[in-house]
Amino acid sequence: MSITPPAGPRRVVFDEPEFGAPEAVEPDDLDADVSRETPRLPRPSHPRTLVVANQKGGVGKTTTVVNLATCLALGGLRVLVIDLDPQGNASTALGIDHFEGVPGTYEALTDQTPIAQLVQRSPESPGLWVLPATIDLAGAEIGLAAVMARESRLLHVLRDFTARHSFDYVFIDCPPSLGLLTLNALVAADEILIPIQCEYYALEGVTQLLRTINLVKGQMNDGLRLSTVVLTMFDARTRLSTQVADQVREYFPQETLATVIPRSVRVSEAPSYGQSVITYHAASAGAQAYLAAAEEIAHRGAAHVEEESVR
Ligand code: ADP
Ligand code: MG
Repeated sequence: MSITPPAGPRRVVFDEPEFGAPEAVEPDDLDADVSRETPRLPRPSHPRTLVVANQKGGVGKTTTVVNLATCLALGGLRVLVIDLDPQGNASTALGIDHFEGVPGTYEALTDQTPIAQLVQRSPESPGLWVLPATIDLAGAEIGLAAVMARESRLLHVLRDFTARHSFDYVFIDCPPSLGLLTLNALVAADEILIPIQCEYYALEGVTQLLRTINLVKGQMNDGLRLSTVVLTMFDARTRLSTQVADQVREYFPQETLATVIPRSVRVSEAPSYGQSVITYHAASAGAQAYLAAAEEIAHRGAAHVEEESVR
């Protein structure tokens, strides 16, 4: 007797091996879908690599990576998500297998395995690819401690990948620390996106993060710039949320997106279905906010390009 799976959203456990090993991607597959059509969202002149960092946990880093990446991919752009957190939450939310032993970020960092051999396509959108993280990555920080140029391991594999494959956006989801993994992300990226939760102590730690960014900028990556601040988990009913939002805008007037991400149950439910909030519940306030935020980021990138071409 065959068992019919229940209707409704997927609910699966991606970090258990019973689903079998993911199929290896042929490098040709990776570019097979490069669309000839004009994407709905503007394409940047060069691939934009955004590292999403904040050493505080639970501020919405992973949620922001997953949903912005999906929105941009659904807008017709080609997007890679690099999961740099051993928890692998971004991999789970994008419907990607990442049980122990699945090759991913760990192999890219430690063995310098080409990223094209490690990525998996997310079921969220044909243009969305993920370099998954497994718990193995927790050992990478110690493993890399004695390696030469240990802070530019990600930069090398990523540079090679973007030179060979046509991608518009790369998002790097960081763990909640400023250790060697986050350092690799800061060295490999051009832009930093900081999510700030509209809660008590929102700006606590941001000063330390800015100090780290300046250190990396001065010594390892001249081109790095803080381009984007996203206010997350905004609750319009509380005065605190509004106060925090105002304070953040005062600190980062240029960088803070006009769009604010509201606290929304749909946003927190979506990952348990292995989905972004956009495919899980498109009409929800959270999905609409992430769509608007993605548009803003895409247009800002495009505006930057136009400015440059005028000069
Ligand atoms: P981080 O990656 O910074 O640790 P997460 O993205 O995992 O943070 O978010 C922390 C928790 O808050 C998660 O349970 C997530 O589902 C929830 N969350 C994030 N953004 C929202 C939101 N806008 N509304 C409701 N819950 C949210
Ligand atoms: Mg996270």
